[in-house]
Amino acid sequence: KQVIIVGGVAGGATAAAQLRRINPDINITIYEKGRDISFGNCGLPYNIGGEVSDRDKLVAATPATMAERDIVVKTHHEVRSVDSEGRKLLVKDLEEDREFEAAYDYLILSPGGAPRTIPALLDVPQAFVLHNLEDLDDIKAHIAEHDVNKVVVIGAGYIGLELIENFVRRGMDVTFIHRSEEVYRPLEDDLGNFFIEEMERQGVDVRLNTEIVEVDGNVATLSNGEQVDAPMIVAGIGILPRTEFLGGSGVALNDAGFICTDETGCTSADCVYALGDAIETFYQHVDRKTTVALAWGAHRMAYVIANQIGGDDDVKFEGLLGTNIIRFFDYDIATLGLQQNEVREYDHFIVDHKQKNKAGYMDGSVPIRVRIYVSTEDGRILRAAVVGTEGVDKRIDLLAAHIRLGGTAEDLVNIEVAYSPPYSSPKSVLNMLGYKTI
Ligand code: FAD
Repeated sequence: KQVIIVGGVAGGATAAAQLRRINPDINITIYEKGRDISFGNCGLPYNIGGEVSDRDKLVAATPATMAERDIVVKTHHEVRSVDSEGRKLLVKDLEEDREFEAAYDYLILSPGGAPRTIPALLDVPQAFVLHNLEDLDDIKAHIAEHDVNKVVVIGAGYIGLELIENFVRRGMDVTFIHRSEEVYRPLEDDLGNFFIEEMERQGVDVRLNTEIVEVDGNVATLSNGEQVDAPMIVAGIGILPRTEFLGGSGVALNDAGFICTDETGCTSADCVYALGDAIETFYQHVDRKTTVALAWGAHRMAYVIANQIGGDDDVKFEGLLGTNIIRFFDYDIATLGLQQNEVREYDHFIVDHKQKNKAGYMDGSVPIRVRIYVSTEDGRILRAAVVGTEGVDKRIDLLAAHIRLGGTAEDLVNIEVAYSPPYSSPKSVLNMLGYKTI
């Protein structure tokens, strides 16, 4: 049997490795249109800031190490179209400039997303995105070649924020340009009111309610008429699913272009599976579709699909909560569950609690704030947000596990936390949310 995988990074490479582990005999070929495979996208910003001091450690596997596991990898090979009826693909070898057909028994699609940009940055030589290792190398080469010590960052999502933090850590002057005043949309505005203050405290030049309309040489003109020095511009403004090549393939896409999948990872076409940033999947805790461009889902779905194809087909995907966390200088910010606009459609009440992350009498105890959205119907937690400077990761992960195991808001009182003064309180912040719900 021949398995073909489209895309060789988080989802694709993981699916290949899992499948090989489960099934030593199946033929596996990965087509990747870029230069590299299997690198840690999530770590890219931290190489800019220096916390990943060795860039090569970001590379988990290469075509050569994959070959040792009998996995064929073809980089610089772009899949141009899919014929799911005929079970074949049209592939373009980008280096040789030649096209050929490839037949499959099973097809796994993990094409991810394409980073968005704005019209004013098209054809601007010093404008970059940070989506893969090539981008990272280009950004660092530009800094070195042009002795750049100033950067303009646009985009207030998690990648924009990570870029700001890491360019500051690198010692560069950072200008942040943002269309509105709303920074980091996954978080409630009133919980995220520290973002701008923190940027200014870190010396970032913040320009809100404006955007770049033109770049001339190293000068960017903004819609409010101001001009900023822009020897380098990096945009982190989201992604669009890279699914154009599936037009006419028989693989159904949703209205936004994401590949529709079920709990086996299967698409609407027989023997065609999909995972990662390009798929539409479903929430774990409510009956609703979602798209979550984060690594956990890609890794879990890789395991499910590998089992569906080559192992135990009882292994199913149980949906996502979209659990996420970012660090922004001293702050940690985490959310899970329905997005803010989605939760409004459900009858709910909000429980909010702030207390110290450990015994309040401990020197160095700091506040942690947790907000949960509780279903009026059955007490389920529909959404949660956690903000603080310490202990946020523990709380969000506990909440994710609690919800996964069917725990309600009231049940939070029964989470027996590990307590000693440096870690928590006999009634932790999560317990207190439960007591406030009862
Ligand atoms: P990708 O890993 O993007 O891989 C898709 C690959 O498919 C690409 O290499 C692309 O070239 C290739 N491809 C596309 N179309 C074709 C085609 N037609 N033919 C051949 N090849 C094709 N997630 C987290 O959970 N936590 C984080 O902290 C985090 N940080 C991130 C930081 C950055 C800078 C970035 C860019 C992403 C981050 N993510 C993070 C997101 C995470 O990396 C993605 O969710 C994950 O990589 C998705 O895997 P994927 O396989 O769907 O897509």
